Amino acid sequence: MQAPEKAILSDDVRKQNRFRILNAFRQSPSLSRTQLAENTRLSPGTITNITTQLLTDGILRTSAPDSAPDTRQGRPRVQLALNPAHATVVSGSLTYGRLTLRASDYAGAQAASVTQEFVSDGKTAQRIADEISGLIRQITGGQSADIISFGVQGTTAKDRSSVLWSPILSEDGCAFAAALVEKTGAPVLVENDCALIIRALDRRQGGKVATFGAVLMSYGIGMGLYVNGALFGGQQSSATEFGHLPYRPGGAQCRCGKKGCIEAYASDYAIWRAATGMDRSLLPRSPVSPEMIRSVIERAAAGDGPERAALQEASRALGIGLATLFALFDPFPVVFIGPGSALVSVMEDELRSTLRENFRFKQRPHLTFQTETDETALTEQGAEIAALENLDRIVAYGA
Ligand SMILES: [Zn+2]
Repeated sequence: MQAPEKAILSDDVRKQNRFRILNAFRQSPSLSRTQLAENTRLSPGTITNITTQLLTDGILRTSAPDSAPDTRQGRPRVQLALNPAHATVVSGSLTYGRLTLRASDYAGAQAASVTQEFVSDGKTAQRIADEISGLIRQITGGQSADIISFGVQGTTAKDRSSVLWSPILSEDGCAFAAALVEKTGAPVLVENDCALIIRALDRRQGGKVATFGAVLMSYGIGMGLYVNGALFGGQQSSATEFGHLPYRPGGAQCRCGKKGCIEAYASDYAIWRAATGMDRSLLPRSPVSPEMIRSVIERAAAGDGPERAALQEASRALGIGLATLFALFDPFPVVFIGPGSALVSVMEDELRSTLRENFRFKQRPHLTFQTETDETALTEQGAEIAALENLDRIVAYGA
């Protein structure tokens, strides 16, 4: 008879192995048992035991046989894949003025999607939940979702159950996830949009870059951070509020209510405010369009003036912020995301010189700055990854 501790340990290992196998299918959708053993480094016996159970439970299914025959037995290898019918997943993003939702199956194939203008500010949690659940019914054809996952601008609870603060939601509206659980009966995950963006980038990089950051330059400045192969977050919240690190205490008004944050100098609204000579103690009322960003770039390129000064100040604010993080974590590659990332090409020289002045590199690293304008697609993709990973954890570890 096994000692109790040993039994517990082997049960834990079995659960971890189940999760490793499901995770392997997230990297490669169709795998033979031999490939699965290679990719997970688990023994053929463990692979056979676990996949047999997952096939019985309807989590996996056999897919079209591989055309390459098994060399030892001379017959096609059975290919396994995640069973799409196991679950219906709804993922989406709620940003300033816009809601996007998509329905996918358990294998991650998208079935339907909807994007629409959505004013969330001032609405109650119940009203938001009613509107979202109506759209969910529309894209799932009335089918109930097994999990709903959202990316939201703002700070979210560490357990992903609620929004703690958001510039686009009222205090009551922040509780929309709980109202959506009531309304749909499905578990609802809400997560900071930048945390989801960096999950999507990590998947794209195949998990090969252990430490990197994503700076969202959109309606505000956000950050997602991966440190040593794991999403970095706070004890209670999504944290990584890079945009609200103090840059000039007591300075320009930030949308968070404080003064002098990095965002109050480097966000699209702050650059527009400075470029147009608006009072720095006021917040611009309307959102900044990509055309407005382009006009700032063009005028800054044409010569000295408020536009060039605004971009220089924005570069310094970002540079000081990154120098602070590099001092804490060592330098890491940064991906600038969102419409404001179009500004990076004209800000890069000033940004790099601010970093040189404010961060003492032991060995000068080759810092890479990449840009990507479509933050919504990454947020949605990250929300879907989070939802599917949650379902995989339930399959592997139990509820
Ligand atoms: Zn702030």
